[in-house]
Amino acid sequence: MTAELERLFVHLRFPSISTDSTHADDVRANAEWLKGQFEGIGLATELHETPKHPIVIARNEYEEGRRTVLIYGHYDVQPVDPIELWDSPPFEPELRDGKIWCRGSADNKGQHFVHLLGAEKTIQEEGGLPLNVIFLIEGEEEIGSPNLVPFLEKHKGDLACDIIAVSDTGMVAPGVPTLGYGLRGITCLEVKIKGPSGDLHSGVYGGAVANPASAAARLVASLHHDDGKIAVEGFYDAVIPLEEWEREMWSKVPGAADDDFLKTTGASAPFGEPGYSMAERLWARPTVEVNGIGSGYQGEGSKTVLPAEAMFKLSCRLVPGQDPDIVQQQVISHLENHCPPGVSIEIEKGHSGKAYHNDPHSKFGKAGQAALEKSFGRAPVLIREGGSIPIIQDMKEILGSDSLMLGLALPDCQIHAPNENFSVENFEKGIEMSRALLRELAK
Ligand SMILES: [Zn+2]
Repeated sequence: MTAELERLFVHLRFPSISTDSTHADDVRANAEWLKGQFEGIGLATELHETPKHPIVIARNEYEEGRRTVLIYGHYDVQPVDPIELWDSPPFEPELRDGKIWCRGSADNKGQHFVHLLGAEKTIQEEGGLPLNVIFLIEGEEEIGSPNLVPFLEKHKGDLACDIIAVSDTGMVAPGVPTLGYGLRGITCLEVKIKGPSGDLHSGVYGGAVANPASAAARLVASLHHDDGKIAVEGFYDAVIPLEEWEREMWSKVPGAADDDFLKTTGASAPFGEPGYSMAERLWARPTVEVNGIGSGYQGEGSKTVLPAEAMFKLSCRLVPGQDPDIVQQQVISHLENHCPPGVSIEIEKGHSGKAYHNDPHSKFGKAGQAALEKSFGRAPVLIREGGSIPIIQDMKEILGSDSLMLGLALPDCQIHAPNENFSVENFEKGIEMSRALLRELAK
């Protein structure tokens, strides 16, 4: 095992589960260890206290006239349950089949540690770094980064940078370097449908009182046309259309073909908005999804009841151009306008975040592409992602800088799930990618 891998293993052994207060000391110990790693390569390093878990900041000496890159990552991890499904203990890293098996290996310790090692090698071989580098590694990403935005606001002067590099996303397939340049946004709602003042006997009252479960089902069904297109008025109005090069590139991206997609998801047939490929539906088209729905009796056997209430939860994934507040209001108006008679509707607004998008052909985008090509030996594919990383949009708004998403996790990396793993090849190529990135960004 290489010395680099051994150091990553030490990083991985800290059970830095940010959501679990019984692990608060482990999270802190991990932050302190990481601070030592950055100090060890000669960077000025500080632990910034927050109301919860500390933020690690490390930087080289600032030189006027050079570009500045901020490298973001997180050292906290998700809980490990269900523990019985792990093939090896979650915090004892193991090498099997060319992969590192451990909680946090892909999300995100392996992915940010390559940047530390890339900086270290560069310093060792070239006597320093070719640009100003700021590392920001937080300990609260898995709980929604509650203290990062205030931290960014407070320190935006000394975190000022030209570009941000984030390795916390994925590669579309093994050996296929991937540059992400977009993320979907999100807005959430919770809906309650209220009928009679209490559950009623379906024989005594059925047929003469509106049923909230039926009303909820009608409302949910009203959100889409039969072909999958969203029926909410104005929903697509602000969507910025896909560019031709994107459609062309995505048509060739491995893993986005319908067959692969069915295999991964276990779904029986493709589904979605007509006129768009699977990749386009996932990365560049907005959605309304029902995340949960419930009403009435759900136990064994039958219970002849007319339920007093029904509920459902919705989330909309948003794309560039869409404003979360406007979309949320459009969905609320749609639900209110379509609510059938005899029941009342209560809607609670949930959290929102904007979509994010940058130009992968900008000078920094090209630097990211070149770094991936030099380390992996082929030109990267350029993709957007279907998920949301709110902090990337926050950094754009507060620091004014775009993020290059240089993901190294493979599709089967099992993040947040048992048997999380990170490819050894991607760990090693990631170190080279990071070195190449520093060189390219400095040009
Ligand atoms: Zn995560």
